[in-house]
Amino acid sequence: MAKFIVTGGAGFLGSHLVDKLLHEGHEVVVLDNLVTGLESNLSSVAKNPNLTWVYQDVSAPWHDHGKVDGIFHMASPASPIDFVPLSVEILKVGSLGTLHALEYAKKHGAWYFQASTSEVYGDPTVHPQGESYLGNVNCLGVRGVYDEAKRFSESLVTAFHRREKVRTSIVRIFNTYGPRMRKNDGRVIPNFITQALDNKPITIHGDGKQTRSFCYVDDLIAGIYNFWIHQPQGPINLGNPVERNMLDVANIILEKTNSKSKLVFLPLPEGDPLQRCPVIDKAKIELQWKPKVSFEDGIDKTIEYFKSVL
Ligand code: NAD
Ligand code: UDP
Repeated sequence: MAKFIVTGGAGFLGSHLVDKLLHEGHEVVVLDNLVTGLESNLSSVAKNPNLTWVYQDVSAPWHDHGKVDGIFHMASPASPIDFVPLSVEILKVGSLGTLHALEYAKKHGAWYFQASTSEVYGDPTVHPQGESYLGNVNCLGVRGVYDEAKRFSESLVTAFHRREKVRTSIVRIFNTYGPRMRKNDGRVIPNFITQALDNKPITIHGDGKQTRSFCYVDDLIAGIYNFWIHQPQGPINLGNPVERNMLDVANIILEKTNSKSKLVFLPLPEGDPLQRCPVIDKAKIELQWKPKVSFEDGIDKTIEYFKSVL
């Protein structure tokens, strides 16, 4: 069995990854400063003797947590509502945080995993997006802090791979949803579900025709775990290639929640990509992975979660 550090392990994806690693019998050290995470996300595993949870800002210098076999760098605010209030913190965790994690991996001869994002493709001019597409990002735009932080992370990871011979992997995660997203997270699925359950207006940005491809969290975590097994360098896209627009998403959620909410149309936020859909051929080949959970089933499970926490 192996020992891992998971930065951002109290967050939405990080905590599901921690569950999976513990379930597989591994030892896990979580480093998280709870800027967007919740300690309660780890409550079901809090008593597991293989889990250590440390309050730490990973953009600040790291303490030693002993020799590890792998580091999953998951820490970063990820919701567009945080891109202004947490702009500097996002740039720091994507640069300094990534640097500290890579130096730790180098020191211990550990494998390093970078949680990157479909946002490195920006507002894409190529559709769907394969890993060879170089992207269309405005470094000065509101989303630039997140996009460029992740692009910088990918460059730094590649530098450590190329020059320092650290074993590294990069995943580009497309929109993922599920239980443990914060109800005030700001991303579209928790927003629409909480609005629908409260019978409050469903806030559609723009005309609602912009598309995303939504992956259920269990599928994504299975794919991330396969990175540890196969250790491909990447970058590799992980996401569910079924594309849908935000009006369809709203209508599915309204129907499933029997909600009386009405749609309200708000301006499209600056730089909001009009379309996004992954090519997942590399993941199928190099990770032997493809998503299994339908949007309908994933949304049912997510609605049940929000009903239990609202
Ligand atoms: P999240 O906000 O739920 O989790 C992020 C976690 O990182 C939180 O627990 C937060 O407290 C922690 N964190 C942030 N900055 C930190 C710092 N400086 N020091 C220590 N901890 C810090 O978001 P998420 O959706 O779970 O995203 C996890 C990772 O996956 C992020 O790197 C994000 O960019 C990436 N990602 C997520 C998605 C998605 O759809 N969920 C898509 C693309 C990429
Ligand atoms: N969105 C929306 N209403 C909301 C929140 C988001 O219409 O209340 C839109 C948002 O403008 C974007 C899409 O839903 O076009 C996905 O947004 P999210 O913040 O979930 O992720 P991202 O834009 O980073 O893909």
